[in-house]
Amino acid sequence: MSPASLDKPLTLALSKGRIFEETMPLLAAAGISVTENPETSRKLILRTSSAGLQLIIVRASDVPTYVQYGAADFGIAGADVLYEHAAAHPGALYQPIDLNIARCRLCVAVRTGFDYEAAVRQGSRLRVATKYVRAAREHFARKGVYVDLIKLYGSMELAPLVGLADAIVDLVSTGGTLKANNLMEVEEITAISSRLIVNKASLKMRGSGLQPLIDAFARASAGGTAR
Ligand code: ATP
Ligand code: MG
Repeated sequence: MSPASLDKPLTLALSKGRIFEETMPLLAAAGISVTENPETSRKLILRTSSAGLQLIIVRASDVPTYVQYGAADFGIAGADVLYEHAAAHPGALYQPIDLNIARCRLCVAVRTGFDYEAAVRQGSRLRVATKYVRAAREHFARKGVYVDLIKLYGSMELAPLVGLADAIVDLVSTGGTLKANNLMEVEEITAISSRLIVNKASLKMRGSGLQPLIDAFARASAGGTAR
């Protein structure tokens, strides 16, 4: 690394929406504020009150990729996204802290009135639509249920309503979206929250700048551990 690149600000990758919003208090705890709002600004690179830190705004599922390749030194991503990313890139990222933000759960849901238990008991082959194919495949394999997985990129709730799938595997927090679409949760697969992820080379080369931020995030997120 050239001396010039050591002067570059550290780059934190995150998605707009709930992760951005729930990260602001963690940055505040480290004494850092962000004046630009990614919901209204079209900028994808946001400066912060610290000359040593900038943010980049990327799709939630792209955060691990930016961090793995070192385009961002660290990032914040949901356990759901990290588990799918790790299918192709096991161990690529250092994941020091559970930030306990953007909490929800990964669930199986079906149309209200669909007898999921009976379908499972009878050994029916289920069609399951999801964005989380690894988590879904492993869940049904553990249960010994045969499934045909259909990969979707969003609006999973629609799939059972139009006959694309018998069930979906999706994230749920309040259950309001399921209810609004006449769906019901039949199984929880796992609890989900967002983690801090760190590029391994950045931690070695830029640890003096990174470690204090990692420590501040750990202190600010209840239940977090620094290493
Ligand atoms: P995109 O909008 O780019 O397709 P996305 O829908 O996964 O991606 P968000 O909705 O911002 O993006 O979700 C980001 C992360 O927040 C998810 O990866 C998950 O960990 C968490 N999350 C998703 N839905 C909820 C929810 N309803 N409540 C709390 N956390 C959630
Ligand atoms: Mg979403």
